[in-house]
Amino acid sequence: MRFESWKKETVILNPMQDMARKIIPSEIRKDPLTGRTARICHFMKLQWEKPDLEQLVAGTEAGCPFCPDRIMAITPQFPEEILPEGRLTLDDMVLFPNLAPYDSLSCVATMGGEHYIPMTEITPGRIAKAFRLALNFFGILEKSGHPEAVYHLINWNYMPPSGSSIIHPHLQVFTSSSAPNLMRTELEGARAYMAENGTNYWEDLVKAETETGERFLGKIGRTTWLSHFAPLGVAGDVLAVVDGVHSTLDLTDADLTDIATGLTRAMAAYDKMGIYSFNMNFFTGAKGDDFTRFHLLFSPRTFFNQTLGTPDVGAGQKLFNETVCMAYPEEISRMLRPFFAAVG
Ligand SMILES: [Zn+2]
Repeated sequence: MRFESWKKETVILNPMQDMARKIIPSEIRKDPLTGRTARICHFMKLQWEKPDLEQLVAGTEAGCPFCPDRIMAITPQFPEEILPEGRLTLDDMVLFPNLAPYDSLSCVATMGGEHYIPMTEITPGRIAKAFRLALNFFGILEKSGHPEAVYHLINWNYMPPSGSSIIHPHLQVFTSSSAPNLMRTELEGARAYMAENGTNYWEDLVKAETETGERFLGKIGRTTWLSHFAPLGVAGDVLAVVDGVHSTLDLTDADLTDIATGLTRAMAAYDKMGIYSFNMNFFTGAKGDDFTRFHLLFSPRTFFNQTLGTPDVGAGQKLFNETVCMAYPEEISRMLRPFFAAVG
């Protein structure tokens, strides 16, 4: 396992100190699996101002399509060949087709009837149950032999900085024969890694990260939690890898609870930095892809300027797919670790 990085230095004449010479470090890191590079730069204290969330949320429940008094009347239903009952439910959670689909089986799952749940009050039980609802849907598609039932995916955009336009907690649930870009690149990389080394990349990664401990956060059940070496997010990413599992449908209820527990630990840790929004994606192999391991990425999101609504993604990330992280992942890992210690 090679964790490659290049250190760089910038010299400026500093206007804050009579134009004295100042050296500013930065670093370029290469993801060991995909070769994707990420910049560690623009160093700042990872502390943001949260807006008044109660004020932000006030009034958004009026007209919310996911609230219990409206959801069954105004959300779409599946045709009978997909799901005869139209929508899939689990207690107060509802899964239905996305009105704006980005693949042929593109759905939304609400995480219960509550319109707004602060990030630190989302319980592991609620998250695990919403994942279970999605897995129940995936299971139905798999059983029916649907041709798109190849990669079973859950994305989560929580609160507006992450790209969510609806406050009411919900998941994007989809099943596709077309792997999304980064997941496809990772799958190709893991396949090539196994052909070359005879071992599983993800198992080797977990072993290496557990041994050095620099980015290791904890282990919950058979899920290992790490700070990503070459993060996509401005405040780093949390990576979870599940031992022995290569596809979503192989996750047990115990795995779902363990994953949900780790996610709430990450949320609690990032909340302390003033973060109140995140993206989370599943990364899965297809059935039989034993060269990979199921993993997920949790990436905190923020506005750089709350008042102007300046996002944390600019031209570099948007058009070059070159990311910027504002602290060393090893330092971020030290900040997150105490929150995982309670369960690890
Ligand atoms: Zn609502």
